[in-house]
Amino acid sequence: MRGSAPCPCSSGRPYSSCCRPLHAGGAAPGVEALMRSRYAAFALGEVDYLVATTHPAHPDAAAPRVEVVANLRRVTSAFKYPGLVVLEARERGAEGQVLFHARVFQKGKDASFTELSDFARDGGAWRYKGGRLVEGAWQGLTIAGVG
Ligand SMILES: [Zn+2]
Repeated sequence: MRGSAPCPCSSGRPYSSCCRPLHAGGAAPGVEALMRSRYAAFALGEVDYLVATTHPAHPDAAAPRVEVVANLRRVTSAFKYPGLVVLEARERGAEGQVLFHARVFQKGKDASFTELSDFARDGGAWRYKGGRLVEGAWQGLTIAGVG
């Protein structure tokens, strides 16, 4: 995508100065930036980035890479990712959490979801460890309210 286009992570900034530097190999400065860059990577099909930012403790890390990549390619191409709302992000030492609402559509059908994601530092870089879905209305949710 063109660098001047708005970033798919809904930051309101151009992709070129938002998530592209991370997709190009830069380290995310915090868990919110990592979460946003992963959503943008789903939107743009940056599968290698999704693999690279998965924590070794995530189940995907133990699966054959070729399978994980094929799965991610299916998911990134089958869905549209029109926007992200980060409700809250927090970091404590080497652990972090992000509560977000991801807008996701498959063939025009709304498959949006709310998730509380866990992140941890691994070799100095933040990586995605896993998450759990949060049911119900997402507006106004806080980590304390769901965690
Ligand atoms: Zn972005």
